[in-house]
Formats: sequence, structure tokens, C-alpha cells
Amino acid sequence: MATPEEMYQCQTTSCGYIYNPDKGDRKGKIPKGTRFEDLPDDWKCPICGASKAMFRPLAGYGSGAHDQKLAEGAA
Ligand SMILES: [Zn+2]
Repeated sequence: MATPEEMYQCQTTSCGYIYNPDKGDRKGKIPKGTRFEDLPDDWKCPICGASKAMFRPLAGYGSGAHDQKLAEGAA
């Protein structure tokens, strides 16, 4: 089962697609169990076609949730 740290969300406005390594990407011929890091560099969001660089993890480093936690800790 994938943790939020392993799930990546497309940051393009009005997309919001989440890559779940448990499911892979059938459209992009990515098998189940493929980590986001292991996706080919030319992989694109199946919804809007954004590149991997447009994705951020749901939790952990680089995610909005992580920034939120930092802000709470500083308060
Ligand atoms: Zn997208």
C-alpha cells in the first residue's frame, strides 16, 4: 500500500491527477508497483500531458502538507 509520500499529484491548474504506485498508469503502460521515481523521464500526466517536473508528492519533502507542518511548528 502506497504512503502519501509515494503518491504524486499533478500541479497543473484544474488537473489534480494523482499518480498512485499501487495502480501504475494503464494508459501510459506503467505496470502496478512502479514508483514515481522509476517512471521514464518522458512519462506524462495521462490527464493533461504535464511532465514529471509538474508533480509534487502528497506528503513529505516538497509537498504543501509538509510546508503546512513547518508553519505550524514555527507558530
Ligand atoms: Zn495533469
